[in-house]
Amino acid sequence: MAKVYNFSAGPAVLPHEVLATAQAELLDWHGSGMSVMEMSHRGKEFMEIIHEAEQDLRELLQVPAGYKVLFLQGGASQQFSMVPLNLAPADGVIDVLDTGHWSKLAIKEAKRYTNVNVVASSADRNYAYVPTPETWQRSPNAAYFHYTSNETIGGLQYSDIPQVGDTPLVCDMSSDFLSREFDVSKYGLIYAGAQKNIGPSGLVVLIVREDLLGHAQPQTPTMLNYQIHADADSMYNTPATYPIYISGLVFKWLKAKGGVKGMQARNDEKAGLLYHAIDSSDGFYYSHIDAPFRSRMNVVFRLKDESLEDLFLSEAKKNGLVQLKGHRSVGGMRASIYNAMPIEGVKSLVHFMLDFARQHG
Ligand SMILES: *Cc1c(COP(=O)(O)O)cnc(C)c1O
Repeated sequence: MAKVYNFSAGPAVLPHEVLATAQAELLDWHGSGMSVMEMSHRGKEFMEIIHEAEQDLRELLQVPAGYKVLFLQGGASQQFSMVPLNLAPADGVIDVLDTGHWSKLAIKEAKRYTNVNVVASSADRNYAYVPTPETWQRSPNAAYFHYTSNETIGGLQYSDIPQVGDTPLVCDMSSDFLSREFDVSKYGLIYAGAQKNIGPSGLVVLIVREDLLGHAQPQTPTMLNYQIHADADSMYNTPATYPIYISGLVFKWLKAKGGVKGMQARNDEKAGLLYHAIDSSDGFYYSHIDAPFRSRMNVVFRLKDESLEDLFLSEAKKNGLVQLKGHRSVGGMRASIYNAMPIEGVKSLVHFMLDFARQHG
């Protein structure tokens, strides 16, 4: 079997142990004689799987009482419509922080359902930083405040939790969910598409404060109504059963690896190695993101000599380092180093980068 380190931004690398377990259980889950893919979502076997996945996730993040955990479909992109439809009145206003590609899409979609006040934007410097809270122009009566904790494409991460008082705080945490510790009780709603740092695509995980449910705009489609899914414990219709099963295995893997705290330490170390390689390359490689906001999940960098970028990618591939091409809208390189990327993969990339710089610098 070809062994590569996969730096894809998503769908992304999954823990090897999880895939091996899934393989061993593929034809016969725990003596049931069935594959998880073949099970009724309302049967006792699958009910056990989804229940355990939820309990393990609650434990990993110490989700307080009063929050619902939902397993839905439609990806994180569908949340760009669901959040405003459910949490904001059509004649109300929401506050949004614009830090790049994904915040812009959230803003564009929300405008279809309510009024959007962009509190601040870092577009002026090509999203190289997060505007400081002192500059935010907040509305006095926002239905909620939305931000993106990690801009997967730009490589920008905001580690602080915005202090927004009584305004419900909503976060698109798709690409750094479970990568570091945070206090769930500071949030009204968190959503994360699974294929970055949780499991396979086809699933979005939500944690939502119960008092925010039940206020959907009247025209909200049934399938986009949080209350419907919350009342049915994510079983209003057939959920994404196999992705939920794999995500559950990932949660168990995380618990065995020291939980979110253990991951955070490993992720800091991995990102530290990579940024050090970039910063100590005498400008051969560079990051355009201001240091405090550099993502520890998606390390975006460029080569000073852009004509070498194709060669960098093809040589990297020969060395078993794949999916390093940056998003088409940004260019350059992007090394996504989610929880499941082992430190050996990062060391291997750093080794290759030093070699490449030596040969071509
Ligand atoms: C990938 C991503 C999305 C979109 O996710 P889909 O599941 O493809 O809809 C939204 N926000 C962020 C931060 C992402 O990384």
